[in-house]
Amino acid sequence: MGGEMRTYHTWGRVPDSTPAGVRLPAWADELDRVSTAEQPFLAVGLQRSYGDSALNNGGTLVDMTALDRVHSFDHETGILRADAGVVLGDLYGLIVPHGWFIPVVPGTQFVTLGGAVANDIHGKNHHRHGTFGCHVRAIGLVRSEGRGVITQDESGELFRATIGGLGLTGIIAWVEVQCVRIASAKVSVTNTPIDRVGSAVDVLSEHDAGYEFTVAWIDTVHHRGRGVVHSGNWSTTSDSLTEPTPKPGLPIPFDAPNGLVGRWSVSMFNMLWYARHRWSARHAEASFRPFFHPLDMLQNWNRLYGRRGMVQYQCVIPTAAGRQPIEDILTMVRKERMASFLTVLKTFGGLHSGGLLSFPMPGLTLALDFPNTGAALYALLDRCDELVRETGGRIYVAKDCRVSGPTFRAMYPAWEQFREHIDPKMSSSWWRRVAET
Ligand SMILES: Cc1cc2nc3c(=O)[nH]c(=O)nc-3n(C[C@H](O)[C@H](O)[C@H](O)COP(=O)(O)OP(=O)(O)OC[C@H]3O[C@@H](n4cnc5c(N)ncnc54)[C@H](O)[C@@H]3O)c2cc1C
Repeated sequence: MGGEMRTYHTWGRVPDSTPAGVRLPAWADELDRVSTAEQPFLAVGLQRSYGDSALNNGGTLVDMTALDRVHSFDHETGILRADAGVVLGDLYGLIVPHGWFIPVVPGTQFVTLGGAVANDIHGKNHHRHGTFGCHVRAIGLVRSEGRGVITQDESGELFRATIGGLGLTGIIAWVEVQCVRIASAKVSVTNTPIDRVGSAVDVLSEHDAGYEFTVAWIDTVHHRGRGVVHSGNWSTTSDSLTEPTPKPGLPIPFDAPNGLVGRWSVSMFNMLWYARHRWSARHAEASFRPFFHPLDMLQNWNRLYGRRGMVQYQCVIPTAAGRQPIEDILTMVRKERMASFLTVLKTFGGLHSGGLLSFPMPGLTLALDFPNTGAALYALLDRCDELVRETGGRIYVAKDCRVSGPTFRAMYPAWEQFREHIDPKMSSSWWRRVAET
């Protein structure tokens, strides 16, 4: 366990932060000493969150990535218990050959178990399986006043505050999760090109009934918002549980010049991506890793956005508000001539983990990636916030670096209930921004 001074940033690279201290515990008992640190502390994983929820300017960051041991895995029941620093992508080799899979995985495999719990992450199967927190059986939690095991049945609200609790209720030392059965390591994929956003919503609703995984990619530069809906089920034609040796992603060796990702480059990329799916086979068998984590083909692709970084905006619009707000947001983006490099639309189902600050609710979720162009972008996103808030929706904190305190508090009315469970010695740059301003 050591201390050092350096500037940290998360995936979007906005903002930077300089913690006063950094700890890298390698053994579980070191966590007890960390939790008596002088500055407010915050445990972090691989810092794949986009904004400032995994930053702690002026405080202590507890880097959990060296706590990466699997405690147990039962081949019969699929119950896995492992240190919070274990990376989801590293678990595949252990569980897939035995016919099990992580119940919920995000768009990148480079996420720790602790990060998956603390953001209550969702994946392409939300309409069937809910969030990661729906599958967590127990958590080893270290708080400044001591350590304990928390479960849904026995720990009530502290458990619900910890699921999606942004690391503020204690250090998650280990996680026990129920994996899901699979009969193949391949996914049968159906790609459906659509010519407008409305059709994407229709195809998603239709496919949610017959497919375990669904997501739509949308071309925001195109005037109607054409795109492709990707739907998948675990394969029934291949019963092989082995996967090809995973290849490391291609590294991006330097920061691209600011402006490389702009309207022109996004239009070109979108045109090629759409054409590829428009004219190639609609059905294919894919290995699970490229299907779930296509962006991992490039390491550090965030460097393509240059030193100014990027801002991801992800919101959910509740079912009752319909699809119009999504169309309105996309129209606002087009009118401002902003280009989102990667735009993803998905339906959220009704399963809820109970997490007090958990993001998903039944409805439509839209995620947009923008180069950080400063004031004009922030003004646009403020207007999007207003629209989302009026519908009763909210934005995803894991992606946020800019929402105002009053807006966050209106979107997450359980925040005061949540506050009761924060460890008094813990804090984050994000929490100070949204709760204290
Ligand atoms: C390319 C890409 C695609 C993504 N796709 C999705 C997606 O599809 N769905 C989705 O939900 N998210 C998605 N994300 C976001 C990502 O899944 C979350 O931000 C996730 O929490 C990151 O995990 P991490 O280990 O990097 O945690 P960090 O980013 O380091 O931390 C995230 C939060 O967890 C807390 N935390 C981390 N470890 C601990 C611990 N041991 N104890 C207590 N608190 C802890 C931190 O304090 C912080 O608040 C994506 C991110 C990227 C970069």
